Amino acid sequence: MAAATLGEVPTKAFDTILTLDFGSQYTHLITRRMRELNILSEMLPCTTKIADLDYKPKGVILSGGPYSVYEDGAPHVDPAVFELGVPILGICYGMQEIAWRASPENVIAGVHREYGHSNLKALKGDDAHVDRLFAGLEDSMRVWMSHGDKLGALPEGFHTVAVSDNSEYAAIAHKTKPIYGLQFHPEVTHSQNGTQLLKNFAVDICGCAQNWTMARFLDQEIARIRDLVGPEGQVLGAVSGGVDSTVAAKLMKEAIGDRFWAVLVNNGVMRLDECEQVERDLKQHLGINLTVIDASKDFLEGLKGLHDPEQKRKFIGGKFIDVFEAEAQKIEEAAAKSGKGTKIGFFLQGTLYPDVIESLSFKGPSATIKTHHNVGGLPERMTNGQGLQLIEPLRSLYKDEVRELGRTLGIHEELVMRHPFPGPGIAVRILGEVTEEKVRIARQADHIFISEIRKAGLYDQISQAYAAVDPSRAVGVMGDKRVYGYIIILRAVTTTDFMTAEAFNFPWDFLQRVMNRIVNEVNGVCRVTYDITSKPPGTIELE
Ligand code: GLN
Repeated sequence: MAAATLGEVPTKAFDTILTLDFGSQYTHLITRRMRELNILSEMLPCTTKIADLDYKPKGVILSGGPYSVYEDGAPHVDPAVFELGVPILGICYGMQEIAWRASPENVIAGVHREYGHSNLKALKGDDAHVDRLFAGLEDSMRVWMSHGDKLGALPEGFHTVAVSDNSEYAAIAHKTKPIYGLQFHPEVTHSQNGTQLLKNFAVDICGCAQNWTMARFLDQEIARIRDLVGPEGQVLGAVSGGVDSTVAAKLMKEAIGDRFWAVLVNNGVMRLDECEQVERDLKQHLGINLTVIDASKDFLEGLKGLHDPEQKRKFIGGKFIDVFEAEAQKIEEAAAKSGKGTKIGFFLQGTLYPDVIESLSFKGPSATIKTHHNVGGLPERMTNGQGLQLIEPLRSLYKDEVRELGRTLGIHEELVMRHPFPGPGIAVRILGEVTEEKVRIARQADHIFISEIRKAGLYDQISQAYAAVDPSRAVGVMGDKRVYGYIIILRAVTTTDFMTAEAFNFPWDFLQRVMNRIVNEVNGVCRVTYDITSKPPGTIELE
């Protein structure tokens, strides 16, 4: 059993659109679009029992999905959703599900599959109820489709509201109830006016208030944390200097002050001056009660002789837990004596919504749905064994919302917009064995690269950038002397979701400037290369 997780999607405090996921790769875009409209949307698996909900959504969206509704084993929604008395919008599979529920013969395999753009024509009539979904939109628009099945007949009680080149029932609406279906995907940006259409549904039809803002979230989250932790409780958490742990830590600071104890472990593979920088940011800029542990020697010692990426990652992860646990003990003792409150009862974790969705999402009729476990954090013995309860205040937020929350908390822009940095640090940016010399080289080269990126004003256009060290060496000539030096690999990518990525297209003179500085300023390097591999097949990090 996982430890109790304290941090729910705040569906009780905000008008919420419930998105039931049938496994489409676009489902999370529905919740994102809603949040861009300042409406909270929660995504749950399509098999969710409506009776298990502890709140009443203002509306329900049934997502797309890879199955055919008429197949054996295809997923179906709890029929109680139609008894909730709130508006329902089915998208693609979701619409097919609505039609199939009315009568299974309504859904058939289409002769022509329809993938990509399609021209939609809205049939606005004199039925005000039906027209609400397309209110304010052009009658003709380009939409994006991805389906093989279609409605062969209109379910009873429904109107056709739009047609496309290949679908007679591209959009349907019930004549009297607020139930709608779309064959296309309004949530993808390729669908013209898609967001407006979702807004028509959520705001005009469901009556959602557009009040999901980080300022409001912050107020209610602070109140919730205070309530949860109580006037005496204390909370422990690890910070790395990354956006998520910094925002979570600052939020705790605002909620419970110094009863939140942050711990930064210097693992010896952080970037140039990074540990000092993080200490300055968290302590001075943000006023967080921070303890820094310098375990760099132990880490570097233990990394000796490890060449395999997995072994390196495992060692760093395991060592981190050992160091953290030992320190947690000391902090617990200090906290107990501090007179600030009772002993530490909670452990802070910066879990984000995509991690939660990933562990909840619908994986198919045969696959069991994973229950949420503690993602990306400490082992259960820290929480279960020591009786600490997990507290996850960012659990309902996407990355851009976390950044916005950071701004709302007054965290400076440079920190809020920081590129992600891997837990095992530059150890995975040094191919093969990590040595002190290679750490120095990686740090200096990375520092030059990132400073030049900032100077050129390119930092925010790039999603992640770094310099890595290739341990095989190449021959060069420096000052008429033959040298034998390491090869630096520069990597910079753009991506929206880190699932796919492309190399950033630097101006040639920029790359030359960086190369020039690195070979001149970093001792032991005689070549610089730029990695242009996309993801896939490459990954963003090298190991
Ligand atoms: N699998 C269904 C079809 O092919 C639904 C597709 C979807 O929801 N995008 O029609």
